[in-house]
Amino acid sequence: MSTASTVAAGVYPKAVKGAFRRAKDGIAVLLLAVYFIGPWLRWDRGPGTTGQAVLLDLDAPRGYILWMEIWPQDIHYLAGLLILGVLALFATASVAGRVWCGFTCPQTVFSDIFIRIERLCEGDRSVRMRRDAKPWTVGKLARKTVKHAGWLVVSVLMAVTFTFYFVEAPEAVARYLSLTAGPWMLATVATLTATTYILGGLAREQMCNAMCPWPRIQSTMLDDHSLVVTYQAGRGDTRAPRRKSQTAEQRFALGLGDCIDCNQCVQVCPIGIDIRAGVNADCINCGLCIDACDSIMDGIGQPRKLIAFDSFANHAARRREETVPTRILRPKTYILGGLMGIAAVGLAVTFAARSTLEIAVLQERAPLFVTLSDGSIRNAYTLKISNKERRDRQFEIGVAGIPDLSLRLGDHDTGGASEHITIPADSIAEYRMFVAAPRNVPDDAVRLTVREVGGEADLSRALSFFSP
Ligand code: SF4
Ligand code: SF4
Repeated sequence: MSTASTVAAGVYPKAVKGAFRRAKDGIAVLLLAVYFIGPWLRWDRGPGTTGQAVLLDLDAPRGYILWMEIWPQDIHYLAGLLILGVLALFATASVAGRVWCGFTCPQTVFSDIFIRIERLCEGDRSVRMRRDAKPWTVGKLARKTVKHAGWLVVSVLMAVTFTFYFVEAPEAVARYLSLTAGPWMLATVATLTATTYILGGLAREQMCNAMCPWPRIQSTMLDDHSLVVTYQAGRGDTRAPRRKSQTAEQRFALGLGDCIDCNQCVQVCPIGIDIRAGVNADCINCGLCIDACDSIMDGIGQPRKLIAFDSFANHAARRREETVPTRILRPKTYILGGLMGIAAVGLAVTFAARSTLEIAVLQERAPLFVTLSDGSIRNAYTLKISNKERRDRQFEIGVAGIPDLSLRLGDHDTGGASEHITIPADSIAEYRMFVAAPRNVPDDAVRLTVREVGGEADLSRALSFFSP
């Protein structure tokens, strides 16, 4: 099976109806609904915190996704989610090539919207091509102006909605309406508006072919059993237009195939590919050429699937007049599925078991230690304690490990080896911590203990301690 990477210049995709078109529309509506409605969904987390279901509050700083609260220290969970997403992308590509590109990629979804606006303002493919070939008129200018205005409105809506994920949506709307939106909000809207307009409206398929690295990466995931959009050359060739009332038998007798060379498959392609030239690395597996060809086959009374999702193995077997069953489950997909399962379970278990108390200790190194008047040695630290529960909690902070230790937390100083502090709900407390010990402290002998008063949290950590 040959592969090609050529696309036509100046693509005017024609409208098409069919199962893949409906699937693309359904997925796009779902994704857009999630994106645009998402910031307006509420989630009751109790008083004193955000009620927005999904929010990345950069001031807090905290991320909220429904019941989950992600602190800066939990960033590795996001890395885990990213790994899970990449594995899912690899698994999808290994099963069905670039279907991510054809159905769910934001570039595809927004390009589709922009193409619809274009059709609405300037007509379908042939009308648009004719009009573009003619000199400029007031009508043509007006149509193009309305189209670009429509593209801009969609781009602005997309960009403004993006900021709702960082500033509570009602508050963000109030800031925009009262012209008090901060510079970063305006800069984000300007940048995203420009990129959406340029990539979705002007660059379109050039983004997929020339700028996005995924097509090159995903091609390494394909194997003989991956499903990609292919043309059955053995059945379709030799191609020739069909004369009125010409039967399949008459065509067969003339050595002609089922392809009537109507070019519909090329005209509907958003990338401008002629899939009949061979499997194409630029093909986004959107299936629109299948819809176009199926409707032609229905019209001439021939079986569908002259163009279809098919495997390289079956394509080769067909030349020997055999068929090879579709194999979704094979070693590669088992491995990728297994890795996804492990990553998902690992993430879920570690997230569910994560502590609601975290401590971080940073030792001060200038000076490394201070010798006190009684001859003891004092080290200084910065202690951060995160209380991730929605209630105030009291903790006993102590040092242990050797006799005669003393601890001071900021201005708290009881002269003993422990202090009691209360940390407000859902917050991080930071203290300057001083630990004093006799001379000659053995390595790792001093331990910091944090115990919740009346609670279960109980942490202990070795403190490095410098002495002369
Ligand atoms: S060749 Fe067919 S499946 Fe590939 S991008 Fe074009 S229309 Fe979509
Ligand atoms: S739509 Fe089908 S019949 Fe028409 S040119 Fe394409 S492959 Fe041939």
